[in-house]
Amino acid sequence: MDILVVLENNNGAIHRMSLEAIVAAQKLADEQNLSNAILAIGADSNALANAAAHYDTGEVLTAEHNLLSVYNSDGYAAALRQVIDQEKPSYVFFGHTYMVRDYVPKISAQLQRPFLCDVISLKTNDGLSFAKQAFNAKLAADLGVASEGTILVSFQSAAFNADLISSGSAEIREVAVELDEGMIKTTAEEPFQEEAGGVDLTAAEIIISVGRGIGKEENLPIAEALAQAIGGEISSSRPVVDSGWLPSFRQIGSSGQTVSPKLYFALGISGAIQHVVGMKGSKNIVAINKDAEAPIFELADYGVVGDLLEIVPKLTEAILAAKN
Ligand SMILES: Cc1cc2nc3c(=O)[nH]c(=O)nc-3n(C[C@H](O)[C@H](O)[C@H](O)COP(=O)(O)OP(=O)(O)OC[C@H]3O[C@@H](n4cnc5c(N)ncnc54)[C@H](O)[C@@H]3O)c2cc1C
Repeated sequence: MDILVVLENNNGAIHRMSLEAIVAAQKLADEQNLSNAILAIGADSNALANAAAHYDTGEVLTAEHNLLSVYNSDGYAAALRQVIDQEKPSYVFFGHTYMVRDYVPKISAQLQRPFLCDVISLKTNDGLSFAKQAFNAKLAADLGVASEGTILVSFQSAAFNADLISSGSAEIREVAVELDEGMIKTTAEEPFQEEAGGVDLTAAEIIISVGRGIGKEENLPIAEALAQAIGGEISSSRPVVDSGWLPSFRQIGSSGQTVSPKLYFALGISGAIQHVVGMKGSKNIVAINKDAEAPIFELADYGVVGDLLEIVPKLTEAILAAKN
C-alpha cells in the first residue's frame, strides 16, 4: 500500500480535515500513480468507513476494539502502529487536528519514522516534497525524506479543499488489532471543543472576526448580532483576546486557530501576517475597515471602506429583512 489516510471522527461524521487529507492522497496517487486507502479507527469506525467507501480510494480499512471506544492516545497509537506494521504504507496522511498532535508523535517515536506535521502543500514535479511554514509563516520550507519506510504527514487546515474530493466506490476490510488494558496508561479528557463551549472554529462555515477596530468590549454585540443573523461563529484578532473581551480559543492566527470557512468577515482587522496565516484559506473574505490602505484589502474578495460601527448594524438589519 502506498498512501493510507487516517480518518478522525467528528461527532459521528468524518472530520473536515480528514476529507482534506483524502484530497491530498488522491492528488498524490493521481500524479505518481500510487495506490491509496482510508482507515477508520475506533468508535463508529463502521459508520465512518461506509461514508468513506463513496470516495475514490483503493479500499477502506477499519480497526476496531472495545478499548478504542473512547479516544485515548496509547490505544490509538498502538492500534495504528499495528495497522502500519501489517499494511506497510509508504505515507500515512492525517489532518493536523488536536487529536493527531496528541497521538501521532508517539507512533513517530516508537517506529523511529519522521512525522512531517502541519504541512501546507505537496509537490511532485521534482521528486516528492512537502512544504511547511517556518519563522511565523515568513518562509516555506520544502521537506523531502531520504530514507525508506513509512512517513507520517499531517496537513494544515485548508491546505487542500475538501470540496474537490473525488467520488468512487470501495470495498471495506477489517484489520485486526490486539490491545490489552495494560497498554492504556492515559485517559483523555473531554475533547477541546467541548471545553471551549461546543465551538469548533475549524469546522465553522461562517466566521465573523473582530479586531481592535471594534473599539471596546461594549461594541461586541454589534458583531454578535451579525453572527446570529447569518448563522456564523465569532472569532477575533489577538488584541481583542489580550484585552480579555473574548476567550483565547476564539483567536485566529499564528498563535491561535487556523480556519478555512466558506465566508470570513474581518471587521476592523488590519491584516497583520500573524492574523492572516490563520484565515487566508477562507473561501470568501469580506473586510470592513475605515483605512483604505489596510493590508487586509489585499486579501479580501469584497472590501468595504468605512466605519464598522455604522455599517455592520445596517448589514445585519438588511440580512434579517431579507430573511423575513
Ligand atoms: C509572536 C506573535 C504572534 C502573534 N499572533 C497573533 C495571532 O495569532 N493572531 C492575531 O490576530 N495577531 C497576532 N499577533 C499580533 C499581530 O501582529 C497584530 O498586532 C494583530 O493581528 C493586530 O490586530 P488587529 O488587526 O485587530 O489590530 P490593528 O492592527 O490595530 O488594526 C485595527 C484595524 O481596525 C481599523 N479600524 C479602527 N476603527 C475602525 C472602525 N470603527 N471601523 C472599521 N475599521 C476600523 C483600523 O483601520 C485598523 O486597520 C501576533 C504577534 C506576534 C509578535
